[in-house]
Amino acid sequence: MSLQDNIQRVSREIAQAALAAGRNPDEITLVAATKVQTSQTIREAIAAGITVCGENRVQEFTAHWADNAYEGAKVHFIGHLQKNKVKYLVGRVDLIESVDSAELLQAIARRAVQQGVVQDILIEVNIGGEASKSGVSPALVDELFALAVETPGVRPRGLMTIPPVAVGKNGNKRFFAEMQQLFVDIKGKTYDNRDSVDCLSMGMSGDFVQAIAYGATQVRIGTALFGSRPPVRQNG
Ligand SMILES: *Cc1c(COP(=O)(O)O)cnc(C)c1O
Repeated sequence: MSLQDNIQRVSREIAQAALAAGRNPDEITLVAATKVQTSQTIREAIAAGITVCGENRVQEFTAHWADNAYEGAKVHFIGHLQKNKVKYLVGRVDLIESVDSAELLQAIARRAVQQGVVQDILIEVNIGGEASKSGVSPALVDELFALAVETPGVRPRGLMTIPPVAVGKNGNKRFFAEMQQLFVDIKGKTYDNRDSVDCLSMGMSGDFVQAIAYGATQVRIGTALFGSRPPVRQNG
């Protein structure tokens, strides 16, 4: 299967999942998770219809960005982010999906204000409560989101999660349902910017159909588009 075939197939599956859930397929954005891919592959993906690339590592993003590899598409940062690296992202990526602490939020906001931009962000939620994963616990989402709403330089657009590796027939339904509820609650509370709270980023190659059934507006897909990746280190 070529990359182009994979993009068409996954796009079709996303549309079918949306219709099956009684949703408009246009509500769902396919974010291509491009970690470990080359600039050339990223260009091919964009030529074949990808409109948003999701990057995990600041170093890879910076290299592709310097290469102009993302021309014609948006870029989201979806990996774990250290405060001292926000300067490489603010004003360059369209959305930072992985804000998981007040300190990181404030570092992004300070940089954005310095540059005279407003950085769109998502709050990452550790919905499975796993020690190995980033993200705030569900109980602290409200507080961090409220802080983001009142912090100049950032605009909170919603929530992101990476649930535990799915097991069994029901997979991550419970976690996706909990995320949907958190998202609905947040939207109900952020009165001034309610209309700009429009992103629920969840669902990967193995579980995006379920995520769409529970209201995902963005699915982040790597393997189903690009094939399996070699094992990689976790940081960067
Ligand atoms: C790699 C990655 C994905 C895509 O995972 P696949 O299982 O390859 O589709 C999605 N989100 C994040 C944060 C990732 O790091």
